Amino acid sequence: MSRTHPSRKPCLTAVLRMAGLRPTRQRVALAELLFGGPHRHVSAEQLHSEAGLSHVNVSLATIYNTLHQFHEAGLLREVAVDASRSYFDTDTSDHHHFYVEDEQRMIDIPATDVAFQSLPEAPAGMVVTHVDVVVRVRKATA
Ligand SMILES: [Zn+2]
Repeated sequence: MSRTHPSRKPCLTAVLRMAGLRPTRQRVALAELLFGGPHRHVSAEQLHSEAGLSHVNVSLATIYNTLHQFHEAGLLREVAVDASRSYFDTDTSDHHHFYVEDEQRMIDIPATDVAFQSLPEAPAGMVVTHVDVVVRVRKATA
C-alpha cells in the first residue's frame, strides 16, 4: 500500500509555490504529513516523531524552521500555549481553542462561540490583527 497519495503531491507542490516557498523534497514531505488529512494541531516534537515514523529524516531544528516558514507563508497558524509550547494549526481560519492540559492537545472552539464585551483600542498607530483565546481545561475529578 502506498503511503503517499500521488494525486495530492502536485497539489501540495503548487500550494508551496503559491505561498512563495520552493517545494524542496523535505518541505513537500512535511507538507504531506501536515496537510494530508483533516485539519489538525501539531507541535514541532509531534511532527518530528511522525516524520521519523514515515522515514522522513529531518532534524528537529529543520522541523522548527519549516513550521515557521509555513507559518510566515500563511499556511499554518501558530497557537502559543505558554512560553515553551506552541502548536501549529492547519486551519488558519478565525477560531479559538480549548487546551487540554493533562493530554497536551487542542480542541477547536468556533469563533462565534466566544464573544467579547469590550476589547481595548489598539495602541496608537497599531491595528489588532487577531485575538487568540486559549481556554485551559483538564479532566474533571469525580
Ligand atoms: Zn484550531
